[in-house]
Amino acid sequence: MNADATTRVAVLGAGPAGLGAAYELARRGIDVVLLEQQDAVGGNAGSFELAGMRVDFGSHRLHPASDPAVMATVRELLGDDLLERPRHGRIRLMGRWLHFPLKAPDLALHAPPRFAFGVGLDLLGKLLPGGTSGEETFASVLRKGLGATICDEFYFPYARKIWGMEPSELSPIQAYKRVSSGSIGKMLKRLIPGGTGSGAGNAKGIFYYPKQGYGQISETLADAAASAGAEIRLGAQVKRLVLADGHHRVELEHQGQPCILEAEHVWSTIPVTALARLSDPTAPDDVVTAARSLRFRGMLLIYLVLDSQQFTPFDAHYFPGADIRITRLSEPKNYPARSEPAGTTVLCAELPCQPDDEIWSADDESLGQIVREDLARAGLPVECAVKQVAVRRLPHAYPLYPIGYEKPFDRLDDWADGLDRVLTFGRQGLYAHDNTHHALYMAAAAARCLADDGSFDHEEWARERKIFESHVVED
Ligand SMILES: Cc1cc2nc3c(=O)[nH]c(=O)nc-3n(C[C@H](O)[C@H](O)[C@H](O)COP(=O)(O)OP(=O)(O)OC[C@H]3O[C@@H](n4cnc5c(N)ncnc54)[C@H](O)[C@@H]3O)c2cc1C
Repeated sequence: MNADATTRVAVLGAGPAGLGAAYELARRGIDVVLLEQQDAVGGNAGSFELAGMRVDFGSHRLHPASDPAVMATVRELLGDDLLERPRHGRIRLMGRWLHFPLKAPDLALHAPPRFAFGVGLDLLGKLLPGGTSGEETFASVLRKGLGATICDEFYFPYARKIWGMEPSELSPIQAYKRVSSGSIGKMLKRLIPGGTGSGAGNAKGIFYYPKQGYGQISETLADAAASAGAEIRLGAQVKRLVLADGHHRVELEHQGQPCILEAEHVWSTIPVTALARLSDPTAPDDVVTAARSLRFRGMLLIYLVLDSQQFTPFDAHYFPGADIRITRLSEPKNYPARSEPAGTTVLCAELPCQPDDEIWSADDESLGQIVREDLARAGLPVECAVKQVAVRRLPHAYPLYPIGYEKPFDRLDDWADGLDRVLTFGRQGLYAHDNTHHALYMAAAAARCLADDGSFDHEEWARERKIFESHVVED
C-alpha cells in the first residue's frame, strides 16, 4: 500500500458539501485533500454530457432562498455564467395543467373546479374549532395545515411515489422540513409576488442556473479549490477510516490502487451510515444497528434523446398523481434557454425506487418505455424518433424518514459527534433532505470553525448545527 504524506484535512466526497469545504480551507492556505469515488465532481448535483448536451441528475436549480454569503460565493465564482431564469414549469393536477410554482391567477382560472371547491371548504373548516389527536405524522401535520383536498389530490400521492411509503407512516419531520408551504396561509403568501412567506424567493418565480449545467457550480468550485492549493483525487474510494490519537489514517482505493492518506482532521460528506461501517475501531453494536436501520431512497434518471429541437417550452413537468409512475420530467435545454444542439433535445424523467427493487436493474429500453407510456397517459406523447435512451442511478437520492427514524439517527449522530477530529456534514453526512445551498452553507460553517492553528471551535459548530436544523427544502 502506498503511504502518502500527511494532510491537515482530508475531505471525503466531492459533492457541493465536500467541494465547498475544500474551497474555503484552501483559500485560507490550509492543507486539504479531497477524495471522491466517482471520476467527476458534483455528487448528486453534478452534470454530464449526453448527445452533445450538458444534462443534470434530475431537475436542479439554485434557489433564490440561498443564504446571501453562499449566493455571493457562487456569483463570484461563476460571474456572467450564472443566469437568472424565470421558472416555467407545469403541474398535472386531476388531469389539468397548472403553472408550477403555483400562481394565483392561474389557479383561479384553471384549477379543476372540484379542487378549488374542496380547498375553499377546507379553508372554512379551519375556522371551526377542533383539532387532531394522536401521534403526529407527515399525514396529520399536512392535513391540519393544508386541508384534505390539497393532501389527497397532491401531497399524499406524490409522497407515496417519492418515498415509497404511506404518508401516515412518515415522520412529521418530513412535513416540517420538506414542505415549505405547510399551511394554506403560507401557500397563499407564496402566491403573492414579492410575498414574505418562507421561501418567498419562489414567489418571485425565478431561479439561478449556470450556462453549462448545474454541475458547473461544483466544477467551478473544484477548479477554484485546486487553484488555491487543494488536492482533488477522483476515482478515490474511501474503504476504511482508522481513527487514531495523532493522525487518522484514511485507507482508499485510488484508480484501482490501494493507498493511505494520513490526516489530522477528517471531514466526511459521505453517507453517515457508511462512515459507521468504515470506521476502525468499529462503532459500538447499537450504533451499527442504528446505521443499518436508516435507509435512503434511490432514484432512476431516465434520459430520452429526441430527434426534435424542443419537446415543450416548459423547464419541468410535475406529476403528483398515482396514475403516472414518474414524479418529474425536465428538459435540460430549457433551463439555460439553449438552442444548441440544433435538432436534438433531451428529456430527463425521475423515477424514485429502492436500490434493491426489481425496477432498479431494469434495462434501458424497458425504462424508456415506462417514460413513453407515462407521457402518453399525461397527454404528452413522444411523437418524434427517440435517438437514444440513457439511464443513471442515484442510490442516495433522499434520506427516508419513517416514524421513529429520529432515534437511530440521533444515536448515530451522537457517536459521530463524539469522534475526535472527525466531522460529518452535507446532505448524506447529516442524513438531511437538503438543497445545494444548504450543503454549501454547512461547508462554509465547518471551515469557519477550524482555526488556522488546527483547533476546532466545537461550541460554534453546535450553534451552526442548530441553524442547519432550520433549513427547509425548496422544490
Ligand atoms: C433528483 C434530485 C433533484 C434535486 N434538485 C435540487 C435543486 O433543484 N436544487 C437544490 O439546491 N438541490 C437539489 N437537490 C439536492 C442536491 O443534489 C444536494 O443538496 C447536493 O447534492 C448535496 O451535496 P452533498 O455534497 O451534501 O452530497 P452529494 O452530492 O450526495 O455528494 C456526496 C459525494 O460523496 C461521494 N462518496 C460517497 N461515498 C464515498 C466513498 N466511500 N469514498 C469517496 N467518495 C464517496 C459520492 O460519490 C458523492 O460525490 C436535488 C437532489 C436530487 C436527488
